[in-house]
Parts: sequence; C-alpha cells; structure tokens
Amino acid sequence: NNHYQLQINISYFGRGSRLLFARDVTENNRLQQMRKDFVANVSHELRTPLTVINGYLETLSDNIGNQGNVQNIDSNPNELRWRRAVDQMLGQSHRMEGLIKDLMALSKLESIPEDSKDQPIELEPMLQTIKEEVLAAFKGKRLIHLECDASLRLMGNSDELRSAFANLVMNAAKYSHHDGEITVRWFGDSQHCYLEVEDNGEGIDDIHLPRLTERFYRVDKSRSIETGGTGLGLAIVKHILLRHQAELKIKSTLGEGSTFTCEFPGMRALAQSHTA
Ligand code: ADP
Repeated sequence: NNHYQLQINISYFGRGSRLLFARDVTENNRLQQMRKDFVANVSHELRTPLTVINGYLETLSDNIGNQGNVQNIDSNPNELRWRRAVDQMLGQSHRMEGLIKDLMALSKLESIPEDSKDQPIELEPMLQTIKEEVLAAFKGKRLIHLECDASLRLMGNSDELRSAFANLVMNAAKYSHHDGEITVRWFGDSQHCYLEVEDNGEGIDDIHLPRLTERFYRVDKSRSIETGGTGLGLAIVKHILLRHQAELKIKSTLGEGSTFTCEFPGMRALAQSHTA
C-alpha cells in the first residue's frame, strides 16, 4: 500500500539542544518482508519432495539389510557399497529435513504476533521432559541436574519456550564429552527470573560469542555437521526470547564449559498459587 514508514531518532546534546533524524525505511521494510516470504515459501515447497525422497530412501535402506552390518563384506562387497551410499543419502536428507524444519520455525516466529498464547508455565515438569528426551538422544551418556524454584511459574508461550530451552539443553549435550555434566537452573530475584543451562563441555572462544545467535553461524562447521547441527538453533532461541522481552546471555571459557542464561523481566514471574 501507499504508506511511508519513517524511523525517527532523537539525540540530546548539552544545553537543551536536540537533533532529530528521520529515515525513510519503507523500502528496507519491504525488502525484509520479501526475504521473509521467500524463505517461508521455499521451505514449505521443499518439504513435500523431500518427504518423498526420504520415504524411498528408507525403503531402499530396509531392503539392503541392517544398518552398519558389515559381516558380509567379503561375500558381497557390492551390497556394502550400496549400503554406504544409501546411509549417506539418508543422513544428508535427514539433515535437510532438519534445516527446513528450523527455517519454517523461524519464519513462523517472524509472522505470528507476540503474546498470542501466553499462559503460566510450571517449569519443573517441562524441564524434566526435556531432560529425558536429551538423555534418550545421547543414550544416557550425559548427567543432567535440575535445580528448580518450584514456587515460581513463568508467563509465556509454552510451545515456544519449550523449544528454546530444549535447544539449549540439546546444545549443552552436543558440545560436551561423554559423561559431561549439565545443570539446568530456574530461579528468580527481585528484578528478573532466569533459566540457565550450564555445561562443562568444550566451551567457546570469546571472539565467537557476539555472533553465535546469527543464522547459520557455527564455530566449527565440520564438527557441527557431524553433530547434526543446522546453525539455526540459537537464532530460534534468540527470536523466542525477544518475543518474551527476554535476553540470552552467554558466558564461556574454552575447554572448560559454557553457561547460557535466558533473562526474563520480573513481570513474567508468577508466584505459585497454593489453592488446591
Ligand atoms: P548448531 O545447529 O550448529 O548447534 P546453534 O545455533 O544451536 O547451531 O549453535 C551455534 C554454534 O554455537 C554451534 O555450532 C556451536 O559451535 C556453538 N555452541 C552452541 N552451544 C554451545 C555449547 N553449549 N557449548 C559449546 N558451543 C556451543
């Protein structure tokens, strides 16, 4: 439509002087919207053909024999070659499925209004489920401790926050060693409430910290591909937190571990109701 969009900034100087800047951001916003629509449409359109490819690959995989079964290597080297090829294709198409899922999640976050489904959330059962899922994904080879203030509930969109917290706990497990320890804390003070995920994993060099939440930013691309990452997880977390007026703070020491803290404004904390 024909509306112009202006961005106004006012700078204050000494002795009451002010400088007002007005910038025409109409074109900028239009391009942003085009980018968002494009990403949303492309990811949606890619999903159907990928589902078909995955389906056929899985059938092929089932017909070649059990995954990783190399017993017949001498008797049937041809089968082994096919096995490897199909496994690689399946691995890559699952990766692409993950990418599309994450891109669609980001597009959805950009298109639906904030606060659309706010409700009080009890964090302990939510975090308990996340813990079980992550332990299952890592076959129990991580230790996860939960420290929750049971008297505190969080006001927000439960599906979105669940996905953000699961991303952080999953990362803590992904970028840790066998038997790595992860502590998830939920607590509050007079100003804020916090969901914190601490790990004693590989840690991150300071130079990467400011860029970690950018789309597709990864510290070590090859390692990330090996761990099944898309580079979109922390961008999703950041978006979800922004929608809750919250901030992601990251502290890390290379070789020692990292702490990812979601800092929510105090108004999002609710004291537990004690009515039966
Ligand atoms: P990915 O899908 O690659 O995990 P993310 O956006 O979730 O993408 O994370 C971006 C990058 O940040 C990761 O590739 C990894 O290098 C780094 N990272 C995230 N969480 C941790 C963590 N807990 N410990 C060390 N590095 C991390």
